[in-house]
Amino acid sequence: MKVFKFECKRCGFCCKGESTISLSEEDISRIANFLNLSKSDFLKKYTIKKGTRIEMKVKNGFCIFFDEKKRICKIHPVKPEKCKEWPLVPAIFKDREAFEIIKNSCKALKDISWEELKFLKNLHK
Ligand code: SF4
Ligand code: SF4
Repeated sequence: MKVFKFECKRCGFCCKGESTISLSEEDISRIANFLNLSKSDFLKKYTIKKGTRIEMKVKNGFCIFFDEKKRICKIHPVKPEKCKEWPLVPAIFKDREAFEIIKNSCKALKDISWEELKFLKNLHK
């Protein structure tokens, strides 16, 4: 069986939408530090509060840190943990239906089958 190699196709799907992932305290400190900003300046400039959630602002339908020309994340080295995890989120290893939904959204998963994904998980146990 060929071993799947993750390669982002820069489709932008995971950075698109009116809502972005929720930021943890660690994410906020790490990104503010990377941008040389105080936490409060970072929060004011780049995030919005939705109830108890803190999210990135959205610009032109994408997360404010998505570079629309290069199709990459401008804060890639310090991006939020949830962004780092995508698309190999825990749900896709547990649930075939979740796997199919995410596979249809993320072009990097286009060529991987459920069986290959399970094999990949066992490799990393
Ligand atoms: S959805 Fe997948 S292929 Fe598209 S930008 Fe995100 S990780 Fe890359
Ligand atoms: S922080 Fe980066 S990877 Fe995460 S949604 Fe924004 S642009 Fe995409």
